[in-house]
Amino acid sequence: MTQDFATRMGDARVRKDTKMLADFIGIYCRANHADRERTPAQTEAASLGVYGRKPPALCAECAAHLEYGEKRRAFCPKDPKPFCAHCDVHCYRNSEAEWQRQMMRFSGPRSMLHGHAIDGVRHALEARKYRRNDRRASSAETTRADR
Ligand SMILES: [Zn+2]
Repeated sequence: MTQDFATRMGDARVRKDTKMLADFIGIYCRANHADRERTPAQTEAASLGVYGRKPPALCAECAAHLEYGEKRRAFCPKDPKPFCAHCDVHCYRNSEAEWQRQMMRFSGPRSMLHGHAIDGVRHALEARKYRRNDRRASSAETTRADR
């Protein structure tokens, strides 16, 4: 483990986002991979105690996705970090971004039952803001094209 990773995980916001990601992947794995062997995740963040004494139980595949996501979050170049779905950096490699999208689509609505209602509301509000900005940008395009 790099010292940088441990330092970044010392940031409360980084830890919070990382824990949320782990919760989401935990919900996904429990529902979709019940037939696989699932053990408490032994990722770098887990070894730093980010998940307390109860890291999420994950199959090997989901643990690898979590490990990848932990690093992306820790080294996110944006401050404050926007929700990944609205970010223009695209720091996830394509296959991971695609996996993450379908995982979030599954776990997002279900996470409301796991105490993430506030995050869900924040996410919806931010999505609306981004859609509005998109519309403004594209109507500006139209205006320019009309001239
Ligand atoms: Zn899994």
